Amino acid sequence: MPEGPEIRRVANRIHKAVAAQETTSVIFGQPHLRPFGPRLQGQQVIWVKSRGKALLTHFEEGLTVYSHNQLYGRWYIQRAGKLPRTSRTLRFAIHTERYSALLYSASDIQVLTEAELPLQKYLARLGPDALDDVVHWRDVLAQLQSPVWRGRSLGALYLDQGFVAGIGNYLRSEILHFSGLHPADRPVDLSLGKLGELSRYTLLLTRRALATAGVTNVPQRVKRLQREGLRRSRFRFAIFDRQGEPCYTCGTEVQRIEVNSRRLYLCSRCQPRRRV
Ligand SMILES: [Zn+2]
Repeated sequence: MPEGPEIRRVANRIHKAVAAQETTSVIFGQPHLRPFGPRLQGQQVIWVKSRGKALLTHFEEGLTVYSHNQLYGRWYIQRAGKLPRTSRTLRFAIHTERYSALLYSASDIQVLTEAELPLQKYLARLGPDALDDVVHWRDVLAQLQSPVWRGRSLGALYLDQGFVAGIGNYLRSEILHFSGLHPADRPVDLSLGKLGELSRYTLLLTRRALATAGVTNVPQRVKRLQREGLRRSRFRFAIFDRQGEPCYTCGTEVQRIEVNSRRLYLCSRCQPRRRV
């Protein structure tokens, strides 16, 4: 499933392609949403933003289209009038004179008024968004110290969009590794210094992934590995997807385990489990 940085990049691309121009047509695939098409046609898209893993498309007269890609949804941006070659089902389309933004397969789509937007079920329970510029590492620290979250394992917290929005599975492994923490560790057992470090890496790595299209490894190391001729999939991460390879810091073999039914990679030496 794409994570926050990937959804944000898609949102930015759609915004660039279709915002601030009149729509020539707006189409919904699901029967209950179809009446909104003619209503939105001719209106400008004012902004396209991501919130966690949801994408919001805001139209000039105040309606916002909420969409969540779930596991199978996919956006295409095409020259106007050109449809991609796909057997998927078209669910939402925004056409302008120059470009079309097309969402296929995703079924979790809602059209919301400004009053309804903050009450939407997924949006209402999102924590601070790691990609939101106004979110500071101290906001992440506050979440880690909150009675709601501090007793849960980091492995569970870092998949929960209510804790911090925009993080997902590869970022979970990367953030814990850079912070030297084990997925079974709980915030309540960690020092303030360690929680601060974790908070800073949470934002640093999520924002790095946005800027680099998903590369979270240390920039100098990435350059070295690129010079050595490694493929993107091999220089992209510091720990994720590196099972059996040596840890860059200490040489210990990287392990793959399952935490909350999702794969997680760690170095047992750099990320020892704390005894409490
Ligand atoms: Zn190590």
